[in-house]
Amino acid sequence: MASLLLKPGREKALLRRHPWVFSGAVQRVKGNPGPGETVAVLTAEGKFLAQAAYSPHSQIRARVWTFRDDVVVGPDWFRERLEAARSRREGWIPPETTAYRVVFGEADGLPGLIVDRYEDTLVVQLLSAGAEYWRETWVTLLKEWPGVRHIYERSDVEVRRLEGLEPRSGPLWGQPPRYVRYRECGLTFVADIVQGHKTGAYLDQRENRRVVRALARGREVLDVFCYTGGFTVYALAGRAAHVTAVDVSEEALSQAREHVALNGLPQERVTWVQGNAFEVLRDLVARGRTFDLIVLDPPKFAQRAEQVPQAARGYKDINRLAFLLLRPGGLLVTFSCSGHVAPDLFQKIVADAALDADREAHILQRLFQGPDHPVALPYPEAAYLKGLVVRVA
Ligand code: SAH
Repeated sequence: MASLLLKPGREKALLRRHPWVFSGAVQRVKGNPGPGETVAVLTAEGKFLAQAAYSPHSQIRARVWTFRDDVVVGPDWFRERLEAARSRREGWIPPETTAYRVVFGEADGLPGLIVDRYEDTLVVQLLSAGAEYWRETWVTLLKEWPGVRHIYERSDVEVRRLEGLEPRSGPLWGQPPRYVRYRECGLTFVADIVQGHKTGAYLDQRENRRVVRALARGREVLDVFCYTGGFTVYALAGRAAHVTAVDVSEEALSQAREHVALNGLPQERVTWVQGNAFEVLRDLVARGRTFDLIVLDPPKFAQRAEQVPQAARGYKDINRLAFLLLRPGGLLVTFSCSGHVAPDLFQKIVADAALDADREAHILQRLFQGPDHPVALPYPEAAYLKGLVVRVA
């Protein structure tokens, strides 16, 4: 097996079981490993640290498959890891729910591999050279899973280029339909697995949608960045008096409308607004409109660490507008899915927004991604979604 010899003292992260080896930590590559091939990672003194997937094009030069030297990285090992991922989620998927993340990359000890389940269809993303190298193996192993009939690939993401890979998508096994119907907490949705965001839906918000359902009764709700209407549907199911749902995408709104209809919910209680949320909210403020409950679930404003200051301005602006639109006693349920925006920074941004809007407010609850997006303790980067339930005076 080829090996990576680290520079002196650069083994610290690996000793703490963090799964990444950065290019700057590598002293020398011994042998001639190809992209995705398994290499032994060694200290400067030649002591074994881990077996990892080699990625010659990436700043993350290797991603750890295992810290053990007594296992063979291959189908049997991966079958065990997949089984571990499956049992980690047992008992944590709510009733009447047939869509959830079954493999969350590094957090499940399978760097670069994402697998989401929608009923009998698995949608996978291969995001690293290592995950790509074992492409056939994933298909072989995943089609053994009970009830799986189709596997579709959605590796059409730019991060692949950092690994020297082209974006790619299409069926891997079976003939999945473009629109896959699934249940979430007793509600019915349809994922567009071919063109939808991520693998077709934002599965990470499920637990937070339940929170909104529980808060919605009798309230006038504003769902900003509604996409295909996840929060809107839950709010209606929770007997909201009315929902105003905003998104820039006409296509997302038309799927959201379908979701309301599909669940037999009262369509006359929804106002759909297509437009730029920043402008729509400014306009609502200008017209003196107010709401009892506002959900803000914007897209990832900070893709990279350098974008954090700019992202912070965006978060602050949209939250400030929301504060201006809340009635006394109203609730703001506000999110950031930018991993680079840490929870304490996000809280500061929301505090600044309240200050600018001259509203007194309290955090009543902190929100997080669902348990099917677990965070391995040595890999805190997996924690990306954060939210606050804030009550204004
Ligand atoms: N809340 C959704 C997920 C939101 S994803 C759910 O639970 O499923 C972010 C959404 O923001 C996308 O639908 C995207 O179309 C929309 N969006 C991005 N920029 C926007 C803008 N400036 N104004 C309004 N919507 C925007």
